[in-house]
Amino acid sequence: MFFAENETVTSALEKATRILDSSLSARLDAEILLSFVLKRDRVWLITNHNFCLDKKILKTYEKLIARRAKYEPVAYITGKKEFMGLNFYVDRNVLIPRPETEILVETAIDIIKEEPIKSILEIGTGSGALICSVAYYSDAKFDMEALDISAKAIEVAKKNARQIGIEKRIKFFKADIFDFDPGKRYDMILVNPPYVKNSEIKNELLHEPFQALSGGANGMEFISLLLPKLSMLCKKVCLMEIGKNQDREVAGNAFFQTEFIKDLAGVNRVMLLKKSE
Ligand code: GLN
Repeated sequence: MFFAENETVTSALEKATRILDSSLSARLDAEILLSFVLKRDRVWLITNHNFCLDKKILKTYEKLIARRAKYEPVAYITGKKEFMGLNFYVDRNVLIPRPETEILVETAIDIIKEEPIKSILEIGTGSGALICSVAYYSDAKFDMEALDISAKAIEVAKKNARQIGIEKRIKFFKADIFDFDPGKRYDMILVNPPYVKNSEIKNELLHEPFQALSGGANGMEFISLLLPKLSMLCKKVCLMEIGKNQDREVAGNAFFQTEFIKDLAGVNRVMLLKKSE
């Protein structure tokens, strides 16, 4: 046990932060995990910094800090992640939604307001964060479908759709995109594909589903195969997240007119693919 018997909120947080010091967000992680154990919010921690923690709480907290010290993402430990102001359940069967992916969702919502979009498909939905947010923030009554190759991910996505209250508007199903032949085309397609180079999958990323992250040795393997498939499935527009510097590789593709949207760090993060016909 690395905590003493008489720790207060302040002293426990200080110790936990020191244990996690290899993580960039050590103090924040320590606070989120203590809030989780105490079932209180972070404001409570500040206003009750002298509160004495009992042995049982400290024991549980210690276990969670030990997991985090082994790079397990905080979102998997607490089972939740906020995305687009909504609460999503996450576990190790799905990628944790990233803040920069909100740009893709915001762009999709803007396009839906302006163009007559009647059908949307999400490829590789994972937690369902993208399609559920689009459904939540757009009241249009169009067809929404989302597929994933993992049956366990589909279960998580359905759970999130229920939690957010939009489950009736989205059809989720398990399918391999490369065998998927629906005999129709979709006005809009959303995809956050696996695009990380295998050599860059380390530390925290090792806890997330490899299939959802790996773009092979050069990061582009999945995207290169996906572009011709997208061209067959897409009627109007497709929004795809890409990694840093991958804009150069996809800019001149033969299938779509291509534009990029930057994230807050100035990286071309979202690719807007338009059908020229
Ligand atoms: N943005 C994620 C990361 O770099 C990767 C997401 C993805 O491969 N689609 O950790």
